Amino acid sequence: MDKPTLAVVIPCYNEELCIRKTVEKLFLVINDLISKNMISENSYLYLVDDGSKDSTWEIIEDLHKNNAKVKALKFVRNFGNQKALLAGLEGVRSIGCDCAVSIDADLQQDEWAIEKFIQEFNNGADIVSGIRNDRKTDSFFKKFTALCFYKTMNILGAKIPQNHSDYRLVSKKALDILELYTEKYLFLRGFFNEVGLKTAYVKFDVKPRMAGVSKFNFVSLMGLALNGITSYSVVPLRFVTVLGFFMALFGFLVGVETVIEKIFWHNSPNGWATTIILLCVFGGIQLFCLGIIGEYVGQVFREVKSRPRYIKDVELK
Ligand code: UDP
Ligand code: MG
Repeated sequence: MDKPTLAVVIPCYNEELCIRKTVEKLFLVINDLISKNMISENSYLYLVDDGSKDSTWEIIEDLHKNNAKVKALKFVRNFGNQKALLAGLEGVRSIGCDCAVSIDADLQQDEWAIEKFIQEFNNGADIVSGIRNDRKTDSFFKKFTALCFYKTMNILGAKIPQNHSDYRLVSKKALDILELYTEKYLFLRGFFNEVGLKTAYVKFDVKPRMAGVSKFNFVSLMGLALNGITSYSVVPLRFVTVLGFFMALFGFLVGVETVIEKIFWHNSPNGWATTIILLCVFGGIQLFCLGIIGEYVGQVFREVKSRPRYIKDVELK
């Protein structure tokens, strides 16, 4: 095979403090790989501006003017990191590439691991997932919630590699398959793991954020996690059914016991506290289950409206 053309996809949201340095550093990697004859000279960067409110887009335009290998897309507003990534992958597919690597704009992921990604790609892998060596740079809270998420996903049957962020290489073949998945809220980590193509794993070091602050907060992380769960597992729905069944069985048995006690021992249970506790516990369980079902109804609602996944404003090719 000829040397593959590599496209590096970078979602950017309010990254004016990082973006120049990031592009510079990524070109060091790309030029190094070109000099080692590992990738084609046509390899390029593709930045997706996810509706930044700062000067990110002006900086990107300037970078594009000086170097045609910096290609870019701008959204009309913020659509979130998953949409930006998706748009990036679709964008490089239409421009043309043999493989695409997605990496964060703050370069928290070690960009020099791309060389190992390419080696795995040349060995025949269609998907190369980056796995963090550790989570030293994350807060305890983020480590804990991430662990809960990966464990829950695995219990629910949607196996995604632990400590994998969206730092990965995907082949042209994987990008073509991605086009067939038309769901609006595609959870990319789930998709690339489920699709069944040959996958390799590469470990990399995590660095602290280059500049600026994290663009994720608790609510957006919860949203990502819930979308991941509801789009890749129906186990919670079954759990609701099973729980309902056992609760009904429990109620029935308590009823039978009460009747028997009344007939043979003539004592009927009294207790206001018992009633209130049972009411609260069962009321709570019901609302919780309703919430789970609601998440799925919400998922159906969002998908059925069939709105565009994102809206492009400008594309610099
Ligand atoms: N990002 C984005 N849209 C958003 C939020 C984040 O495109 O709404 C990008 C952001 O610019 C960065 C990547 O997603 O390139 C990861 O975000 P961040 O580094 O803030 O997250 P963290 O590393 O803290 O999880
Ligand atoms: Mg980051």
